[in-house]
Amino acid sequence: MNALGPRFWEIFFEVYEGLPRQGPGNRACAARALAFCRDLPESPAILDLGCGAGEQTLQLAELVASGSIVAIDSHAPFIERLRAAIAERGLAQRVSAIVGDMARPQQPLGRFDLIWSEGALYSIGLQNALRVCHDLLRPGGYLAFTDAVWRKGNPPPEVRAGFDLDYPTMGWLADDVAAIQTCGFDLVAHFTLPDEAWWDDFYTPMEKRIAELRGKYANDVEASVMLDQLAEEPEMHRRHSGFYAYEFFVARRPFAQ
Ligand code: SAH
Repeated sequence: MNALGPRFWEIFFEVYEGLPRQGPGNRACAARALAFCRDLPESPAILDLGCGAGEQTLQLAELVASGSIVAIDSHAPFIERLRAAIAERGLAQRVSAIVGDMARPQQPLGRFDLIWSEGALYSIGLQNALRVCHDLLRPGGYLAFTDAVWRKGNPPPEVRAGFDLDYPTMGWLADDVAAIQTCGFDLVAHFTLPDEAWWDDFYTPMEKRIAELRGKYANDVEASVMLDQLAEEPEMHRRHSGFYAYEFFVARRPFAQ
């Protein structure tokens, strides 16, 4: 990621900041994962790590009728956008959004009933993140997260190159399951995100946003090249989505630990 210069990140965020989501996922999948979290208290304490602009945070607030949600992201503009949505929906009593590093959370340990994280834990290394989550959860607390995994060997070079850039240590389903267990969790359930979870709130709006920005940057060769680069990801998915998947995992910190 760091090989890409500041101008790339400027264009990257100009594309991503306006999207409903910053990764694959949808409300139906969130509801399905949440249903595996049995026996949550009536007003659970929830932490959403790497919340992005917070679409899933807001959906969680609807799906869990009471309790608190703290949403954390390191990118301040996402948090500003989420704060505006929280205020607009009158959720300020229950939901707070803060800028922070999930690798060094300032939250109290052993307190959360549920930690949620869609498409973000890998940013600090999956095992590292799983350990952080384990310590933040109370015994019996749940971790619901998504992660990209390989699902077919020998990917085409463009697929390999794409993930080498974004997630070089990406493993297979069995690797994630092993990591979950190594880090002291019981695996409760897992399922693969359906294709519409990549498109409806993510790649379709992304392609629309890129098309808009092509107009804005028509006379800017550097920006246009970067938009071409960003456009490759949804295009790659259209052609090669059989090689990789996003998996939703629900894990639980055992009571005995
Ligand atoms: N959960 C959101 C966003 C996924 S994109 C969604 O599914 O739509 C991954 C997010 O993780 C980005 O918003 C990025 O800013 C955030 N992130 C990456 N590293 C982080 C860190 N160390 N601490 C907090 N957030 C981080």
